Amino acid sequence: MFDLRKIVRTNIKNLKPYSSARDEYFGEAKIYLDANENPEGTVNRYPDPYQRKLKAALSNLKRVAEEQIFIGNGSDEAIDLLFRVFCKPGEDQAMTFSPSYGMYSVSAAINDVELITVPLNEQFNIVKEAIEPILKRPQLKLIFICSPNNPTGNIVPISLIEEILQSFQGILVIDEAYIDFSATESLLSLINSYPNLVILQTLSKAYGAAGIRIGMAYAQKEIIELLNRVKPPYNVSSINQDRALDVIKNQLGFKENLTNIILEKERLFKALSDACKIENVFPSEANFLLVKCKGEASELYHQLLKSGIVVRNRSNVIPNALRITVGSKTENDELIKIMNQ
Ligand SMILES: *Cc1c(COP(=O)(O)O)cnc(C)c1O
Repeated sequence: MFDLRKIVRTNIKNLKPYSSARDEYFGEAKIYLDANENPEGTVNRYPDPYQRKLKAALSNLKRVAEEQIFIGNGSDEAIDLLFRVFCKPGEDQAMTFSPSYGMYSVSAAINDVELITVPLNEQFNIVKEAIEPILKRPQLKLIFICSPNNPTGNIVPISLIEEILQSFQGILVIDEAYIDFSATESLLSLINSYPNLVILQTLSKAYGAAGIRIGMAYAQKEIIELLNRVKPPYNVSSINQDRALDVIKNQLGFKENLTNIILEKERLFKALSDACKIENVFPSEANFLLVKCKGEASELYHQLLKSGIVVRNRSNVIPNALRITVGSKTENDELIKIMNQ
């Protein structure tokens, strides 16, 4: 049976978190003389350390309890905090897959945690037999699965995820940064059934708000409480909290934009499949397309750069592959034009 107390680092379990002025009093008062703030100005007050308004809106939208939500300075902050809460530097291990999102290995290295990187197969799927013996290791505390995966664009089947959740004694993190672009449903509702599941989402992609650095971690309240303990008290600025509320409330704009991007992706998929410089376009449930070039990927990469278009060269992880974000109609037209030259 999964036991959260067994896998939390002892120093975090025993931590007495910093108590800010806004932790000790969070009601509505007439006069605030408790936080050494300046009485003048427009952003003179410290922000709500627990982002309550934002969580209320997310709770309503996502149908999860407010105490099941953590908000970070981007989901990258949540990734770092998960290492800090669960992995003892120099001792514990984490696992992820290759190719996948680069932040998992950077965050592991910063925290001095050994990251086991299991290669995906030719179809970019997880090989169950390859991970089974690793799952049994007592030092393995964290697993990162990105679904839809960056940069391959495919979804990890729910059956495999549930199998891991049932047998693994550590924390399974599903990074759903691209889930809104996918026809597959989010696994968010599973957090109520599994005490070892963390779901990451973000406002950086489908919500079009990468600049305000808002990432969410959803899990049962015991895990959320641990993340809150370790985070910097005021990790999300009041300006960003306000903007995030506006972004979330504009569901009509969100859906319209999402439909556009998905239509543009389908158009781009066809155009790139026909382009003479491209050998193959992989199907994608995200807002990018992974393409295999006919010749050297770096050649095409530099050709595009000369025309002012930057894409991501992924040929170090997948031979001759470029990852291309779906842009606006005019941006995509320009890309297609150059691809056909
Ligand atoms: C873009 C991306 C994120 C988003 O990170 P933020 O810090 O929230 O901007 C998270 N995970 C993956 C796999 C991504 O590609």
